[in-house]
Amino acid sequence: MNGIKVAIDGPAGAGKSTAARMLAQRVGYMYIDTGAMYRALTLLALREKIDWNNEKALAQLIRKHNISQNGTATYIDNENVSSEIRSDEVNRAVSVVCNHNKVRVELVKLQRKLASDGAVVMEGRDIGTVVLPDAELKFFLVASQIERSHRRMKDIEELGGDSAFESVIKNIRIRDYLDSSRDLAPLKQAKDAIYIDNTYMSIDFELYILEQLVRCREKQHEGKTT
Ligand code: C5P
Repeated sequence: MNGIKVAIDGPAGAGKSTAARMLAQRVGYMYIDTGAMYRALTLLALREKIDWNNEKALAQLIRKHNISQNGTATYIDNENVSSEIRSDEVNRAVSVVCNHNKVRVELVKLQRKLASDGAVVMEGRDIGTVVLPDAELKFFLVASQIERSHRRMKDIEELGGDSAFESVIKNIRIRDYLDSSRDLAPLKQAKDAIYIDNTYMSIDFELYILEQLVRCREKQHEGKTT
């Protein structure tokens, strides 16, 4: 059995990365974090002092370098940049960098290539709508802004940081606005995606649902291809 393509989309802080990584582990699939690819390109642009608005130069960077992602780790030309792509500087620039058509065309090409053999859980904002519209299973994960802010606060505290709740929720609101109002590939639920609100759900329960649905769809897929 080849395995199916699973698309997971949703707003920042909805627990997509955790769910996608753990689901991939459970079902033995590859996990791809597409946000990390936009972040890696942003880091490259910062390093090479490329103007964030220079769409052509940004797209060229993707062709010039090798950006790769295997879920937990992100590389630029074999250099592990997994921590560096989470810096405040990258956080600030990435929403501008990802909003260029040429950039998206190049990165979507790479993402489709990574998913071409199936058996993949791919996570982002436009996976079900643009990158893998043919994915056999699509999830749209959400949680309330308050819950997502509490989760973000916990992450910050675990990393030894300190942040006021008001500033965290403000940040989440800004990110939601930028993600859903941008012209290109805005965050939107695909018509055939399963909507899951995990505000009051334990991760174990959520994973149980996701895994059961993957197993069901695998069987249907197997029936179609044999
Ligand atoms: O999910 P994460 O915060 O790492 O995403 C980084 C940036 O990349 C965000 O601005 C997000 O909107 C963007 N992104 C995107 N398309 C994706 C995944 C992320 O535009 N498929």
